[in-house]
This record gives sequence, C-alpha cells and structure tokens, in this order.
Amino acid sequence: MGRQLLILPNGGQGARPGFIFFGVLADEGRRGFEPEASVVLEFREKRDRMGTSPNNTPLLLLVLDACRFDYLGQGDLPWVEERLDEGFYAEKVKPSFGFCEIAELLTGVETRENGFFCQMGPAEPGETSFLLKVLAGVTAPIEGRMGEWGRELCRSVLRRVARRMDHREIYEIPAGLLGRFRATEGALDYQAPFAFGRESLFDLARAKGLEWDASAFVAFNRVAGSDRDRADRLCEIAQRAEGAPALTLGYFGDLDRVGHIYGPGSPGLRAQLKKTARLVEEVGEAFLRRGGSVLLVGDHGMLKVDEHLDLLELLGDLGRKTRIFVDSTLCRFWFEDKATQEGVEPRIREVLWPAPGFFLEEGLAREMGVPDGKDRGDLAFAANPGVVFYPDYFNRKKVLGMHGYSPEIPGQKGFCLGLGPAFAKRRVPEIRLVDVPKIAAQALGAGQVGDGVAETWVSPLYSEAAVLGEEGG
Ligand SMILES: [Zn+2]
Repeated sequence: MGRQLLILPNGGQGARPGFIFFGVLADEGRRGFEPEASVVLEFREKRDRMGTSPNNTPLLLLVLDACRFDYLGQGDLPWVEERLDEGFYAEKVKPSFGFCEIAELLTGVETRENGFFCQMGPAEPGETSFLLKVLAGVTAPIEGRMGEWGRELCRSVLRRVARRMDHREIYEIPAGLLGRFRATEGALDYQAPFAFGRESLFDLARAKGLEWDASAFVAFNRVAGSDRDRADRLCEIAQRAEGAPALTLGYFGDLDRVGHIYGPGSPGLRAQLKKTARLVEEVGEAFLRRGGSVLLVGDHGMLKVDEHLDLLELLGDLGRKTRIFVDSTLCRFWFEDKATQEGVEPRIREVLWPAPGFFLEEGLAREMGVPDGKDRGDLAFAANPGVVFYPDYFNRKKVLGMHGYSPEIPGQKGFCLGLGPAFAKRRVPEIRLVDVPKIAAQALGAGQVGDGVAETWVSPLYSEAAVLGEEGG
C-alpha cells in the first residue's frame, strides 16, 4: 500500500461549490490518518453534487525512466511504435543538465530556475539526524577494513537509518562523508503542498479539486516493488469500479537500471525493452480501453560508456578542508575558506587538465543552466560524453551506460507520446521535459497553456470523452 492523497471538501462539512478545498495526507499511517471507504464515497457524491466533477477523462502519466528517443523505431516497443501517429508525439524530450528530473517533471520549471541540480548537496550543521551521524561516525574508521559481508551489514544499517530518519539514500557515499551531504529533491514528499517551493502538478490538481493516485510512482527517490508490481497496480487503478482518479502517476525504472548495466544498443537492454514494452501495453490498454488517456514520457536518454576515470585516485588527498562529491559525470569541490581554495584549486586544475572533461566555469555553467548556489560547488568538473568517474558515490559496480551529460547531445534525450481522447494527433520534433507537466495539466483541464506548449497538442474534444470505468471493458 503506497501513498494516497484524498482531497476532502472542507472536511466534508456542507461545502459549497467553488469553496476552499484542503488535503489530508494518508501516508501508510505515518501521519496517522486512514480514510474510511465511506468518507471517500461521501466525498465523491458531494463532489458530483457540487458540480466540481472534472470534465476530463482520467489521465495516466507514465514515466519510462531513461527511455531514449531512438529506442523507438527498432521494433522493440511495438505497441508504442504502432501508435506514434495516433496521438501527440514529441520525437525528442530534452531535460535540463543535472540529475533532478522529478523536479522538472512535476514543477514544469527548469533546473536553472527551480534550483534542483544534483541528488546530493552540501549539508549545513544540524541537517543530518543525530542517529545517522553517530552511526556513520562509528562505521567510518573501520569501513575500509571490513570484509564484503561486514561492510554490507554496516551499509544496510546505515541505509535503514538514513531512510527512516533523514528521508534519504546513502548510495555509495563513504560513511565518513554521510553527515556532510544532504539529499535534495529526493528528501521531499513530492505530493505535499508546495513541496518544491513552487506549484507542482499535484498542487495544480489539488487547487482544482482533482483526485490523484501516485502509489505506483516514485517517493523519496525510491520505488516500491518491481515494474511488474507497479504495472499490476496501475491496471488495478484503471479497472476500479468507481473509475480511476483524474490523475494517475506511474513509474517504470528497469530501462534506466538495465541501461546503466549494459549500455544502450546492447542485447541486454534490447531484451529489457521487450519486457518493458509488454508492461506498457498492458497498462496503456487498461486505461485506453476505458476511455482514459495515457501520456508516456521517456524523461532522458542514456549514453554508451567507453571510459572509466578514477578521479579520486588522480586527485589524491586534498586535505580535510576540501569537500568533494563525485557523481558519475560530475565532480564538485567545496573549499572551507579562501586560503584553502587558493592553495588547492590550482592543484586540482593542474591534475585534471588532461582529463576527458571540462570545468564548469561561471559563464559556461550559466549557459548550461546550472543554478546558482552552494549545490554547484566552488569548483565543478564535468565528464565528456561517454566518460564516467568511477569509483563514484553512486555506483557499486562499473556501469556501461550513463546519463547526466550535456542535454544538447541527442543521446541524452527521451520522448513523449500522448494517447487517448485528451490528445490531438500531432507530431513535433522536440519538447522540453518541463513542458510535460504543462501538457498533463492541459489534458486534465487544470491549467493554462504553458510557455511553449501549443494548445493544439491537447484535444479540444477531451471534455466530451467517456469517463473511465463507466463502461465495462
Ligand atoms: Zn539513471
């Protein structure tokens, strides 16, 4: 059982049409509220009586993590490929430079403006829970000397504490550094009001009094169960007797996971594409057959890795006053003070000068849409396409596929396909990832046409379409 948000009109107390709504979060009992079926039914009745029932057909927004645009067209995703001319098809989707696609997908605002750049940023004192700090402190000095089994046990304890107390993952960050970094978008409860510090797709739905179900989506940068489990969950939502909610969010992660392991174009990935294709077909059919609409999104692409670079070894010990975070394609440095920077930065530049990458100098960083602020580091070194820094603080094993390069590179791009009554038949060469929530909002009848989103992408007929679940199927 995942997370479910129900909007109750004024707590169900004699609300009038157009009156203020508020939300109650039911989160596996975490906030201690478990709505009873009668409450939900009463709400539905009231909503219908109140005339606030949405005109739109139920919409499924299904994210296919790292489904690169040109995975289509090779016969691996037949159900999707056969339908490219049946709805709104953006051949490419361009994300921002960085690692926070969820923030873009939910807020419709690019990284440069929303500020969510990397999954981890430097922590201020007090931002790490006491328990995690203590456990990390105990583990740090012995972590390197433990055998495989002992290390796994320690990491498992740290992981559980970090998830429970800090709403974060520990990935492969050394124990000694855990307290020095905090999670960014991954620490947020995406569905909470203004979770990202600005309006999200959830807020938009909330303001319109639309119900949603995100129990088959990502929460705190984690997913529950396998893609298969989530496909079953989505089919179950589509087949509900009372109809699916106005908005359902789904997430399939295997294309990203397997793409990292084997790289794009590999037999391993093509086999996975065929498996994912079957799940997409099942879920897509379940919604479309009942008159719903489906918006498929490959949020970014994947590049083949042909070089692994051990940055940490190259750099050697930079001293306690320089903090380093190694993402797979980006290495950021923070200096404790000006004197440290003046001493250490020239050394870093000299060592990395011949390395296959580039420093994100001020002008270039701005051009690439890197947001200002502490998260970008005092100095940052980015990998050239096809290069991965390894070991890094995320990957346990050497990967053969990676993303997080300049989004101008075609291989970094995903795709988008809107099917069903909500979408007009139209093909466009490229949209941005931040256009997707605007398109979804339009399809829900919940928003204005966003910047760069053509009204014709969303069918003017959608409001007259059948309501999901009314007819058998
Ligand atoms: Zn990935």
